[in-house]
Amino acid sequence: MSYLAYLGLGANLGQPQQQLSWAVHQLSALPQCQLAAVSRLYRSKPALGSPENQPDYTNAVVAVTTTLPPHQLLQQLQALENQAGRVRVERWGARVLDLDILLYAQDIIKTADLIIPHLELCHRSFVVLPLLDICPTLALPNGTKIASLATATVSDDIHVTADNTWWHSFD
Ligand code: ADP
Ligand code: MG
Repeated sequence: MSYLAYLGLGANLGQPQQQLSWAVHQLSALPQCQLAAVSRLYRSKPALGSPENQPDYTNAVVAVTTTLPPHQLLQQLQALENQAGRVRVERWGARVLDLDILLYAQDIIKTADLIIPHLELCHRSFVVLPLLDICPTLALPNGTKIASLATATVSDDIHVTADNTWWHSFD
């Protein structure tokens, strides 16, 4: 049985678009994952309350169909995060690549290391907007339509920087 999962991709160190492109290609090459859709690319200012003088964030969302159960999918994502950190930048940074499971089918999961739907999903325009790119009718397991969330509007702090082919070429 395969399930549809939505994954959040983010980076603000190194070359964010390159790292996100690399991640999309790696995800599509995972043995039990198939790429279903890729959002446009967004750039936004670091969230209020985060350390100052950080570079802007680059974010996107992808949909995959997968036979991996949620925890195994998380392991794969963390392996890719580690790999990106090792090979892509001189200095380790937590935000060289962030891969989150936003939604997994209609599952609700609350364990120590995995919470789905992702806790911040509803509050982050850099998650909500790319989710809407991929699926304008998407709803949370509790029935809330993503399009109804307050963050579903473009503000001054977030911009589309590339159409949904941004990941096609990378070094
Ligand atoms: P964040 O993405 O919240 O800024 P991290 O990427 O550093 O923070 O992740 C910290 C931990 O969050 C991970 O070790 C992971 O176990 C946990 N986690 C809980 N729910 C999820 C989820 N839905 N997707 C990814 N990680 C998750
Ligand atoms: Mg994360």
